[in-house]
Amino acid sequence: MRPYKTIYFKMPAIDLKTELGALIKLQALDTEIYGLKSEKNAKPLEIKLLETAFEEKKVAMAALEKANLGLQKEKKDKELELASKEEGIKKLQGQLYSLKTNKEYSTMMQQIADAKADVSVAEDKILQLLDQMDKIKVDIEQERQKLGEEEKVLKAQKEKSEERIKVIDDRLAQLEAQRQQVIPGIDSKILTQYERILEGRDALAIVTVKDNSCQGCNMSVPAQVINLIKMYDHIITCEMCNRMLYIEEDQV
Ligand SMILES: [Zn+2]
Repeated sequence: MRPYKTIYFKMPAIDLKTELGALIKLQALDTEIYGLKSEKNAKPLEIKLLETAFEEKKVAMAALEKANLGLQKEKKDKELELASKEEGIKKLQGQLYSLKTNKEYSTMMQQIADAKADVSVAEDKILQLLDQMDKIKVDIEQERQKLGEEEKVLKAQKEKSEERIKVIDDRLAQLEAQRQQVIPGIDSKILTQYERILEGRDALAIVTVKDNSCQGCNMSVPAQVINLIKMYDHIITCEMCNRMLYIEEDQV
């Protein structure tokens, strides 16, 4: 077995058990601080994602409205075309009686029949467009209602998020104050060691050994090391994750 790392300075004047007790208190505060800070840091991204989803829906809505305008324009063009065709038919019909020959007459009758067929096609197209416009209006109305509801939800979530951040800030201030009360009771070298591990190990610097395993990394801790921990001679750290180890009173 490789020897477990220890802090290589003797601490005759230091009651290690008391020091560890203070570190455990500090760790409880730091764990909560870390969790709250992570939660707070995640808030802007959560809101940003909601806003992005909402903006995308607004874009989809704008596309529907644009399609509706396109249909309106197409219908107007068709109506103008229809009016002009009808005007043409009237003109031709007015000229019918001034024609001299049967051939001229039958040619013009054919022109009138063709123009009437065009009119009928244009009328069908206008009916189709009206149908499409009715459908798109229903879609737009549904989307508008959904957007309105989602805007309310977004606003509520933003407010909830802001309120939560306030609660977190208040709690962080309390925790920081408690931290300042605990810190003076800890030896400065031990505190430095603790803070170094805290920074490098996701805000978890001191952990218990439970069922013979480190609760920081789950590596098993040999019986000899457990005995060393119980001696309170040195701070014992986990060989795997380098966190400080302790054993809870009821497990001693
Ligand atoms: Zn470990």
